[in-house]
Amino acid sequence: MTFATLGLIEPLLRALETLGYQTPTPVQAQAIPAVLAGRDLMAAAQTGTGKTAGFAVPLLQLLTMEGPKVAANSARALILCPTRELAEQVHASVAEYAQNLPLTTYAVYGGVSINPQMMKLRKGVDILVATPGRLIDLFRQNALKLNQLQTLVLDEADRMLDLGFSEELANIYRMLPKKRQTLLFSATFSDEIRTLAGQMLNDPLSIEVSPRNVAANTVKQWVVPVDKKRKPELFVHLMRKGRWKQVLVFAKTRNGVDALVDKLQGLGINADGIHGDKPQATRQRALDRFKSSEVQILVATDVAARGLDIEDLPLVVNFDLPIVAEDYIHRIGRTGRAGNTGEAISLVCADEVNMLSAIEMLTRQTLNRHMEQDFEPEHRVPDTDASGQVVKKPKKPKKPKTSGGGGKRNLGKWVDSGEVAPAEPSIKPVRKVPVFNTGPRKKK
Ligand code: AMP
Repeated sequence: MTFATLGLIEPLLRALETLGYQTPTPVQAQAIPAVLAGRDLMAAAQTGTGKTAGFAVPLLQLLTMEGPKVAANSARALILCPTRELAEQVHASVAEYAQNLPLTTYAVYGGVSINPQMMKLRKGVDILVATPGRLIDLFRQNALKLNQLQTLVLDEADRMLDLGFSEELANIYRMLPKKRQTLLFSATFSDEIRTLAGQMLNDPLSIEVSPRNVAANTVKQWVVPVDKKRKPELFVHLMRKGRWKQVLVFAKTRNGVDALVDKLQGLGINADGIHGDKPQATRQRALDRFKSSEVQILVATDVAARGLDIEDLPLVVNFDLPIVAEDYIHRIGRTGRAGNTGEAISLVCADEVNMLSAIEMLTRQTLNRHMEQDFEPEHRVPDTDASGQVVKKPKKPKKPKTSGGGGKRNLGKWVDSGEVAPAEPSIKPVRKVPVFNTGPRKKK
C-alpha cells in the first residue's frame, strides 16, 4: 500500500515524500480513508504509531478541498492536546504536512502570554492546535469563535481526562457546532473515555493498533531492586558503569525531578529537568538541548514527557515507577523507535511492588530483575509475575540490636568508576552509611 492509493492529493504526497514517509503505518492506512470519507473516529493508538499524520494529513486534504475560507477569529479544525509540549509537537508535524498547501496553522497553550495568541487569531487559522484551558480562555475573551469548526480532534484523550480536563472538555463540547466531524485518539479506553466518546462521536469507526514496543519487543526491559533512599546513588553508579550518553529519566513528582537534577548537577553531570511547574520556554529549551545532545540526562514527569517524539533514544530509566501502569508503556515507547533497539531500566523499591505487578500484568510479561552488587535492598521487593500475584515471603524475625558501634556496616566501597570493591567475605553487606535523605517520609 502507498499513500497515493489512499487517495491523497499531490501536495500532500509531495510533503510526505520530502519527510521520507514511504508506506503508511497501520493507523494511517485505516484512519486516512475514514477521515477523508467524513467518518467520526475512535482510535486506540499512541505516540510512535504515526497517529498524528493519521489524522492531520486527511484533515488537511478536507480543509483544502471543502468548506469556506476561514473567517476572522475563527478556526476550521481544532486539535486538542493535553500538554503544551504535545501541542507544539503536533503543530510542528501539522505544519510539515501542510508545507505545500495554502492553509494556516497555529498552536495555543497556557504558560505564555495570551496577547500574541489573540493577535494571531484575528485573521483566523485553518488548523488550531490547543490545550483545553487556553482554548477556553481565548473563547471567553472573544478571540476565538467556533461556529466555523468542521473537525475536532481529541488527541491523547485519556491523558486529558487523567489531567483533570473533563470539565474543560464538557465546556468545549458546549461551544462546538452540532454538525462536525470528531476524531478521538486515546492510548486506553476506560469507561470515562467511552462515555466521552458516546457524547461526542457520531457512529464512529473504531481503529485499534497494538501498542508499539511492548508487542514489537524492541525494548530490552529490566528492573533493579533497590532501597528507595539509595536510588540516586544507584542511578549515578549505573550511569557511570554503563557509560550512558543520552538518557530520558522519569520521576514521579515535580519535587522528585528537581531533587534528582540538583543531585546530578551537583556531581557535575549534564542534567536538566522538565515538569509542569516550569515555564514553557524553559521546558522547551531543556527539551531542545536534550534532543541536540547538549544535555545528557533529561529528568521528566509523565505529564511533561507524554507524547514527546525524540528520535533514536537509546535508554529510558524509570527512576520511579509510574502510578498508572499504562504510563509505563508510554515511557518505554520513547526508546526502541523506528525498528531500533532500546533499553528501559526501572529502579524499583519495596513500596512500588504493586505498581510493578500492575505493569507486568498489563504488558503480560515478568520483567527480568538484576540485582546490582552492593545495592541489594534491605527492604526486599517481593516477587511478582504477569499474573498479578505479589508473593510476599514471611518476614524473618528481627535480630536483637547490638549496642554501641551503630550496627553492621557495609565495607563494600562504592567508587566513582562504577566499580564496586568487594566487601570483606565474612561480613555480608547490610547497610551503607546513609548518604541521602533519611528523614521522616512526607505524605504525598
Ligand atoms: P506519531 O505517532 O504521530 O508521534 O509519529 C511518530 C514518528 O513516526 C514521527 O517522528 C513521525 O514523523 C514518524 N512517522 C509517522 N508516519 C510515518 C510513516 N508513514 N513513515 C515513516 N515515519 C513516519
